[in-house]
Amino acid sequence: MSARLRCVCCALPRRALEHVGLGHHHAATERLRSERHAHTVDLRAAAANGKRERFVFDAAGTEALPGTLVRPEGARAVGDAAANQAYENVGITLDFYAKVFGRDSLDGAGMDVSASVHWGEGFANAMWTGKQMLFGDGDGVRVRGFTHCLDIVAHELTHAVTQHAVRGGLGIVKRKGKLDLAGEAGALNESISDVFASLVKQWHRKQDVKQADWLVGEGVFAPEIGRAVRSLKQPGDDRLTYGGDDQAGDMRGFVPGGDVHANSGIPNRAFYLAATALGGRAWEHAGRIWYDSVPRLKPKATFVDAAHVTSETAARLFGIASREQHAVQAAWQKVGVLPA
Ligand SMILES: [Zn+2]
Repeated sequence: MSARLRCVCCALPRRALEHVGLGHHHAATERLRSERHAHTVDLRAAAANGKRERFVFDAAGTEALPGTLVRPEGARAVGDAAANQAYENVGITLDFYAKVFGRDSLDGAGMDVSASVHWGEGFANAMWTGKQMLFGDGDGVRVRGFTHCLDIVAHELTHAVTQHAVRGGLGIVKRKGKLDLAGEAGALNESISDVFASLVKQWHRKQDVKQADWLVGEGVFAPEIGRAVRSLKQPGDDRLTYGGDDQAGDMRGFVPGGDVHANSGIPNRAFYLAATALGGRAWEHAGRIWYDSVPRLKPKATFVDAAHVTSETAARLFGIASREQHAVQAAWQKVGVLPA
């Protein structure tokens, strides 16, 4: 397996796991970061037709990957809700990339996507391991699973898109033999996953920028624990997310060397501001600008770099001094990345 495609992110960051009293699950997440999932079956032979296919496996509460194949592409729904939800939500995400941006699967070259459900015992996380999706069930009380959350699935799969789009990966560092996201580039990587997670959900629901809730991970927590994992509209507003949410909404809240899931609120809100200034359906203009910008980012891109790249992309797509370019520049100014 290529090192640049190993797991760097999971649905619930350490802060959220600690909030729900499942901080020890962070250890299992860390372990996965360094493991090689070489035992994942080679599915290329099964997909000799050249078309991307989905394969859903059941890990049956073990830590083995991928587990038993329960629903390959085209097979009918099975008796297990999590398997069907994973199948559907991976499919919706791949359809979004294909229909909106003409992208053929995560790598742009029709790769197959496999997902294992019921991984581990009450494991309270979901992730892209670098090779496949993996879903824990949560503890069933505070964390209610992930397969039903389209935007969580889209967030994780978008990490794979970013890995393929940015040569060398975006913000990926190696710490004690483990791959991790760090710095502004790491926060940008996280933000890109949140932006497209929200867009996939909006596209699926046929919502415009006003109808959208701009939340990611609604329904992961039990209601008394929290409503969602993040808000692009009001990062760090714990009435919308969970107690202890420390996401920054502008550069005044930026923490140098801080958690990429906290600093990512700044570019998240820049996208929200640009998209809502433009109105209509966010994936059509703002989403297109962001999508075309990702391959232009360097592995150590800063927020200022992202502001320049998205502004240049807006000009290239819609014209110099177009309302799109103005909206993008104004958004980065409002969050304090570009000077006002
Ligand atoms: Zn992530």
